[in-house]
Amino acid sequence: MSKVEADVVVIGAGASGIAAAVAAAEKDAKVIVYEKGSTTGGAANMGMGFFAVESRHQKAQMIDLTLDQAFDFFMEYTHWHADARLVRKYMAQSADTIEWIESLGVEFLGVYKYFEKSFPTWHVVKVPGSNKPTERSASVMFKALTDRAVELDVELNFQHTVKKIQKDPETGRITGVSVVDEQGNQIDCECDTLIVAAGGFGNNPEMIKQMTGYTWGEDLFSFRIPGDDGDGVNLMWDAGAVKSPVNVELTYTTPGITDIFKTLSETMRQPNLMVNLEGLRIFNEETMQNTTFTGNAISRQTGKTAFTIISDEIIEDYKKTGLDYITFHHNIKTVDKWQSEIDAYKSGGESETAGLSDLHGEDETGQVCFWEANSLEELCEKTGINYKNLQATIEEYNDCEGSYDTLFNKHPKYMRAIKGKKFYAAIHRPCGYGTLGGVKTNDMLQVLDAENKPVPGMYSAGFDACNIFGDSYCFLLPGNTMGWALNSGRMAGYNAVDYLDSDDFVE
Ligand SMILES: Cc1cc2nc3c(=O)[nH]c(=O)nc-3n(C[C@H](O)[C@H](O)[C@H](O)COP(=O)(O)OP(=O)(O)OC[C@H]3O[C@@H](n4cnc5c(N)ncnc54)[C@H](O)[C@@H]3O)c2cc1C
Repeated sequence: MSKVEADVVVIGAGASGIAAAVAAAEKDAKVIVYEKGSTTGGAANMGMGFFAVESRHQKAQMIDLTLDQAFDFFMEYTHWHADARLVRKYMAQSADTIEWIESLGVEFLGVYKYFEKSFPTWHVVKVPGSNKPTERSASVMFKALTDRAVELDVELNFQHTVKKIQKDPETGRITGVSVVDEQGNQIDCECDTLIVAAGGFGNNPEMIKQMTGYTWGEDLFSFRIPGDDGDGVNLMWDAGAVKSPVNVELTYTTPGITDIFKTLSETMRQPNLMVNLEGLRIFNEETMQNTTFTGNAISRQTGKTAFTIISDEIIEDYKKTGLDYITFHHNIKTVDKWQSEIDAYKSGGESETAGLSDLHGEDETGQVCFWEANSLEELCEKTGINYKNLQATIEEYNDCEGSYDTLFNKHPKYMRAIKGKKFYAAIHRPCGYGTLGGVKTNDMLQVLDAENKPVPGMYSAGFDACNIFGDSYCFLLPGNTMGWALNSGRMAGYNAVDYLDSDDFVE
């Protein structure tokens, strides 16, 4: 067994961990990072950008959302369940974090909404040499943060897994961590402060089941990012942290289609009729762009499923007008590839644009998730939707074509009747980017015990400590999880070093 020493140890070099390491090292601390995988950036390498308010980019784009407005909106959204002091600090630092990242040579493409009704807060990272939005562009930023960490003499250890947090039995103070490297060698690292940034448990179906009630592969088809196995929260719970409620950062997916057959997927994510297995509408489909709200509505239904139903006449409409909703990251505007993608899907063929499909982990294409039929009755036989109810639903829905939606007040322009010679259905299921929460912190990112007191020397950031959204991720202020990860990591890094210099720290 070897022994090493640091002022600050960081567990995980993902979005929050690498930000924490750089921040602590900027304050001249000796920082050691242990990362289980072989890269920095974690799940955030898959993303494109992050939240900030009152940044110079927003000012340049004449976006007049203020810190106060964003804060008020956020706190109302969470019904003040979130720690207001922490949210305020996060948001107040967010514009400076853009400058902090830019000081590393990273550029931003601009500030964007994620969907029409959201606020323009998503600062999308530019890939050098390209002016196009690019999936996974945030990885550029993590390369820059890693270079900065190396420049500041942060010791980065890859394929090193932290197995235990050590504490002084008398004072309860953090004294170190036990680590195992890829050869199985054990390392004991003494440290005075610890920042746990291990990414939640999006890759751990047992914990997902236990803590959220979803069964991965049955009623949840979330991204599974290698490494995000729940080690961080388990280590902290074992070391005295109190458990906090956990949510999935919810979205929705059509397994085997979303992120794979992009025209097919985007066409079945337009604001058209959505019903549950009982054949009843479940919400105003105009809301579909808010993937969290849609995920919530789907999760309430029998089998946690819902179906979008369209007809060939709607496809003919889209051939003339283009799609109603165009997402920034997929940018599918037409239905030009509609038939070719259906054919490829049915024959089990490959898509030209596999996108992020590989991130869902195990094979999910075994089940049929898209159907065609020559009548509504046939569609119901294939999907299991209640035919009698669907007939009544469609009758009522079609009566409102192009006019007032008597049930849910959907905008008349999206009230496209379900009629024609051919009908299509796609099933939607809950999906998630990761898990939110597990431990409770105060506004300094200090991890709290069952008595609401800080565990001396223990900090947490990112997914593990993400309790700021209440019951649902706030997609209305887009870029908020990576924004939270970077900013909570940065704050934890600074605070951990300040703690070492304070009277609270007793050696
Ligand atoms: C496909 C996809 C796209 C996304 N796009 C966006 C976006 O555009 N904007 C946005 O705001 N958010 C986005 N997110 C969410 C964002 O990626 C997360 O909020 C962010 O990565 C969380 O950071 P983190 O540091 O908590 O976890 P991670 O970034 O996942 O890092 C955790 C790290 O800890 C390591 N680790 C775990 N256990 C141990 C251990 N025992 N010892 C050592 N290391 C360990 C892991 O290997 C991992 O590298 C996206 C997520 C996904 C999946």
